[in-house]
Amino acid sequence: MTERKNKSWVAPLPTGSKQSAASHRYTIAGRTPGGAKPASVAAPALSSMGPGMVSDALRLRMVERIRGAGVRDARVLDAMAAIPRHGFVEPGLASRAYEDTALPIGHGQTISQPFIVARMIELACAGQVPERVLEIGTGCGYQAAVLGRVAGMVFSIERVKALHELAKENLRPLRMPNVRLHFGDGMLGLPAQAPFDAIVLAAAGMAVPQALLDQLKVGGRLVAPVAQQGQGQRLAFVERIGAREWKTRYMDGVNFVPLLPGTI
Ligand code: SAH
Repeated sequence: MTERKNKSWVAPLPTGSKQSAASHRYTIAGRTPGGAKPASVAAPALSSMGPGMVSDALRLRMVERIRGAGVRDARVLDAMAAIPRHGFVEPGLASRAYEDTALPIGHGQTISQPFIVARMIELACAGQVPERVLEIGTGCGYQAAVLGRVAGMVFSIERVKALHELAKENLRPLRMPNVRLHFGDGMLGLPAQAPFDAIVLAAAGMAVPQALLDQLKVGGRLVAPVAQQGQGQRLAFVERIGAREWKTRYMDGVNFVPLLPGTI
């Protein structure tokens, strides 16, 4: 990834601004002391803005659409407003980063649709601040970064080495010491770090691996796309209600890349 420097999130700031690129990234719904308010949209003309401001404005519009589509958790919306999604896609796709759509990230994988990212995190958090979260399928690292703003510690596993490296590179400028990336088979979970308050899968299997159900705290929640034979995929919302008891509800229809065993 040598073209990173072309990305608009490190583009020159609007004339007259003294902010560094790094601080500028955090001007929109940055985590302010006392808690940032969810972003709301004022809609100034995009033509009058510098590149950084354009992406900020587009991101706020994306967040408004996500809110309009039913995500209400202010902390989740705030996190979506704070993380620069255009920094997680190829420079050539940066202009499409705030469309509500999955985009290719290489290796046959995609960055998830923003609405689904917000929806899964809202379900996983249930209005609380989970202390420990596990994500399966880091991809480019976008969802891990959003999770990093709403959770205490985030552990994220990726099975494709090149994507694991890409995610590390993408996350570095955001400086999120509470987000830990692991290279490995996420179907096995991360027993050494278990139990987790929440587990989010970004890839669809035929069932939720038992190892992951076992690594959930009693009272914890797991959100996963699950492929149902001949019927596409649905979002499964699982709550661990006892030592050997899990309650599963099937929700929205979704479309994720497959959950695959092993590493490459
Ligand atoms: N979280 C990403 C989504 C990436 S797509 C985002 O923020 O947009 C899903 C990812 O899951 C792919 O990168 C794929 O390689 C990975 N994946 C699939 N099976 C896996 C497994 N068993 N363990 C870890 N990662 C897996």
